Amino acid sequence: MKELLEKSNGLLDYSAEVLSEIVKIPSFSGDEERVIQRIKSFLDELGIENWIDGLGNLIAKIGNGERSIAFDSHIDVVEPGDLHQWEFEPFSGEIKEGYVHGRGSVDQKGGAASMITAARILKEMDYNGKFTIYFTFTVQEEDCDGMCWLWIIEKEELRPDYVVLTEPTDLKLNIGHRGRMEIELLFKGKSSHGAMPHLGINAIEKASRSVLLIQELNKNLKEDPFLGKGTITPTMIKSTSPSLCAVPDSCLVHLDRRLTHGETRESAIEELRKILPEDTEVIIPAYKKKGYRGNVYEQEKYFPTWKTDEEHPLVVAGKKAYRELFGKTPVIDKWIFSTNGVAISGRHKIPCIGFGPGDERMAHAPNEKLPVEQLARATAFYAHLPLALEKTEEER
Ligand SMILES: [Zn+2]
Repeated sequence: MKELLEKSNGLLDYSAEVLSEIVKIPSFSGDEERVIQRIKSFLDELGIENWIDGLGNLIAKIGNGERSIAFDSHIDVVEPGDLHQWEFEPFSGEIKEGYVHGRGSVDQKGGAASMITAARILKEMDYNGKFTIYFTFTVQEEDCDGMCWLWIIEKEELRPDYVVLTEPTDLKLNIGHRGRMEIELLFKGKSSHGAMPHLGINAIEKASRSVLLIQELNKNLKEDPFLGKGTITPTMIKSTSPSLCAVPDSCLVHLDRRLTHGETRESAIEELRKILPEDTEVIIPAYKKKGYRGNVYEQEKYFPTWKTDEEHPLVVAGKKAYRELFGKTPVIDKWIFSTNGVAISGRHKIPCIGFGPGDERMAHAPNEKLPVEQLARATAFYAHLPLALEKTEEER
């Protein structure tokens, strides 16, 4: 264990350099080719087998065991937003005062850099254990969390036994998060001249009454002691009418719904049906956008809740790996935001845990920066987990 920590610490400059290099390449969702090629070149230099799949995900492979585990990092980032709020250039990738600076350093290229160094260590150790270890560098997550993994599982038919998400956890061991869905409500009215509103049915007024009921619904949604409370809130509203001097004949309300433990697509729709006018159309919109390789994948914007049991071998192995490396028990936690776990665990029931460098609160915020020293601990954890998992499985 000491050896592994020393190796990871010894490669800390390498990890920081890799992170700096990939932060310098902006990689917005659907436009990730340059950063994928850069990561590929790091893997090629190390002699690690890798390939790019049909959607544009980069997959590296080490070992040839019968069981399999994947470490996942999405490598797309969100826009920097208002540049005036940044104290440094968002894509500088500068390494200074113990931090790597820039958009994506925390969410979540830090995880990617630690994975690359872990792969390097496992390659140099000639890893030959019970697992085939995949490292996946995935695309379009910021736009549609999990779709990249629907592609990997459903189209590439790669279905690992376990997955470790390397999104920022501040080196805590995360075991789940709330799910989410987007919902559109289409309210129907009947237009009439604006001078004679009593002759029509005003779709905006109809929608407004329902929005107030949704505000009440939000107060009464289910609460889970670990994952937190389900929430619902309107995020957009638009209407149509023959003219600005006419009663609107339709009104569309877009909703953000966060789903806690025990809440599903069906239960969320059912609750709405109970409070909405009967003729309201309830729509789950679809996500459809071309990837950088020209292929399109589509999914409904429903991202199921997931949580891995604390007694599950993967969580037990995660705790074991952490204890053996750092001499203490990890903090068990959850993410506030959503991750690729919605597809991997939420839809496809593959057990997941999360462990990554960086503070979740820095994600999507100005002045995003990652403490360099966390990279080494994440690296050591990734390199050690397959062995800890092997032992945990044997003990069962
Ligand atoms: Zn992320």
